[in-house]
Amino acid sequence: MGATAKPIVSIDATVKHTPMRIALEDIEIISEHANETLLTVREQMLLPHPKKHAPVFSTSRLASLCRMDRKKVNYYWEKADLGLPQGTILPRTREFTLVEAREWVRKVGPFPARPAGVKGKKIAIGNFKGGVTKTTSAMTLAQGLSLFGRRVLLVDLDPQASLSALNGVIADSEVSDDQTILPLIYGEQSSLEYAIQSTYWDGIDLIPASASLFGAEFYLPFKQSKDSNFRFWDVLNAGLEPLLDKYDAIIIDTPPALSYVTINAFMAADGLVVPIPPNALDYASSTQFWSLFTDLARSMKKIVPDLEKQFDFIHVLLTKVDSSQIATNKVREWITSSYDSLVLPIEIPTTTVTTTASMEFGTVYDISKYEGSNKTYQRAREAYDRFAEMIDQQITSLWSAEVESNVAEVA
Ligand code: ADP
Ligand code: MG
Repeated sequence: MGATAKPIVSIDATVKHTPMRIALEDIEIISEHANETLLTVREQMLLPHPKKHAPVFSTSRLASLCRMDRKKVNYYWEKADLGLPQGTILPRTREFTLVEAREWVRKVGPFPARPAGVKGKKIAIGNFKGGVTKTTSAMTLAQGLSLFGRRVLLVDLDPQASLSALNGVIADSEVSDDQTILPLIYGEQSSLEYAIQSTYWDGIDLIPASASLFGAEFYLPFKQSKDSNFRFWDVLNAGLEPLLDKYDAIIIDTPPALSYVTINAFMAADGLVVPIPPNALDYASSTQFWSLFTDLARSMKKIVPDLEKQFDFIHVLLTKVDSSQIATNKVREWITSSYDSLVLPIEIPTTTVTTTASMEFGTVYDISKYEGSNKTYQRAREAYDRFAEMIDQQITSLWSAEVESNVAEVA
């Protein structure tokens, strides 16, 4: 391989502190240089190739997914008339694929299915700061919900496309603009159906992102300035509407900025989850999130006085919590007193699991058999399970309420 990119400017090391003037036009040279270098190191970055595989499930893991003991699993397993997937028999145990495990959960698990005629719920993950685990939270929430038997659609709205990468889809080489939300943004499509891709994970579909999503930030305000009837904040919502019969949950990952695309995500969302790691900087910037969000709400109301928008829920999720850090307890207190009942009673611990799981291209759920400390892994997975469970309980109670109000309407 070897770096083939030419140096940007040759610097004479014998002359010290020489200012290096760079004209605006020459920024392009820096960009080209960086891109060429990236191309040469790219293959190394992607090793092992991120062709992803779903994990397999042991009998005891299957039992815990179905919330029953192993004896009961064996009992069901032997009852051929139930038609449950039999798994693969190994020398001393049995193993189930994700497809098989999800079928078990749906058939004999305790999770009530979405009632007929009731739509799926849209959940946006947002915070204007990067690195606060928005993308990881979106992915683990989708995986957690899918293991309750749910069908989930992930929508990647970040031009950096990390959520697509977690699904093994590499933005620039494997995603064309037509496969992202862009045709919807440009008004060429009215439903996002065209952009749905299946993923390596049964039960999770994906609408990927690519760097060209930045185009939306120019197009949406431009279109609004030309057409006062245009509703720039409602484009995503309208595009997702036809998909709500097909999915139990649609999870939207947003970029770390208050962009036009982020506004679309928030305006489409029934529920909003704001992950915040309990450290002073992330806490401080989280307060700016709410004040910017307030400004946004005010200006939206000014543009559209009769705008009705209600969230079914808004939650703060404490993530990357490292209780061994002294500052953590203090900042956790600040977060709890700032956001009070919005804070979910669950914390996602800091874990190296996410980084050991195939080079950051995975989450705790991607691991069939963890090789490090099992306790660390269990703790992390249980926290994510609880997070998914809390969101699922809210979704199911919203469904029940809708069924009741439909019944009341008919009566
Ligand atoms: P964002 O989408 O807000 O920018 P990411 O989800 O990409 O944040 O996470 C930022 C970094 O934190 C990533 O490197 C990710 O692997 C890491 N990370 C996520 N969750 C955890 C966790 N529970 N413990 C340790 N690192 C984590
Ligand atoms: Mg992200």
